[in-house]
Amino acid sequence: MSTDPRLENILSDIRDVPDFPKPGILFKDITPVLGNPKRFNEALSLMEERVTAHQPTKIAGIDARGFIFGAALADRLDIGFIPVRKKGKLPWETIGKAYTLEYGEAEIEVHQDAAKEGDRVVLVDDLLATGGTAGAACALLQSTGAEVPLISFFIELSFLDGRSKLPQGIPVDALIQY
Ligand code: AMP
Repeated sequence: MSTDPRLENILSDIRDVPDFPKPGILFKDITPVLGNPKRFNEALSLMEERVTAHQPTKIAGIDARGFIFGAALADRLDIGFIPVRKKGKLPWETIGKAYTLEYGEAEIEVHQDAAKEGDRVVLVDDLLATGGTAGAACALLQSTGAEVPLISFFIELSFLDGRSKLPQGIPVDALIQY
């Protein structure tokens, strides 16, 4: 891990919550980072530096914590934001993609006019675990004709090897890796 003091401070503000939302899961609680304006600002600046290099025309964030980072980054870069939502939440015409969870299935959706050919959509989420959600979101965005030049996470649980579920050939970035 880098010795950037900003990263060290962010790391110290991520709270481990054992057995949430179910036994055996060590939940990475980012609310102390969000609640500390200096920390949240530094986290966004570090992500912004990495995202800008890929010259996005839009940022897509995954429901729900991906909205926090994604929308803030879109505002900083002065580009549009695309919410990737859980099934049934978007009001207009949608395209959807089902994916497998540890137990059962889930589906995410975007509006069919959210992106188009020629767009460069950076996909943002708070955390990469098994990769199922981000993999489906990426495929969904690509199905609009847009290019996904980067998938950007605040945290990656690298021991779960979520990267193997993401489309090969697309750069994946995580500010913090466990
Ligand atoms: P996955 O599809 O397995 O990569 O799960 C990713 C989503 O689940 C992310 O959007 C996270 O918000 C959430 N998530 C999964 N595992 C954790 C964890 N250990 N701590 C916090 N959030 C998690």
